[in-house]
Amino acid sequence: MVRIAVDLNRCQGYAQCAFLAPEIFAMHGDEALLYDPDADEAPREKLDRAAAACPVQAILVDAVEPDDAEPGAPDVPAEEVSRAR
Ligand code: SF4
Repeated sequence: MVRIAVDLNRCQGYAQCAFLAPEIFAMHGDEALLYDPDADEAPREKLDRAAAACPVQAILVDAVEPDDAEPGAPDVPAEEVSRAR
């Protein structure tokens, strides 16, 4: 899973991201940016290119490990959890 964050205080609505990764980013009107923060549809390379092309560097693209995606997941391996019971 890839997580995306856009600093909307920085975003100036230049739409470079919407042009390079339209699966994730879209302009709504002249300046409002819509995006999917949990993007799996766009290839990572496209997302990286969109982030690099942002003139104000408002886009952060980050890989998320499966354990990080589930809040409250145990820190110990499953076999250790079953041994503790
Ligand atoms: S490229 Fe950057 S400034 Fe332009 S719409 Fe996307 S996030 Fe905003």
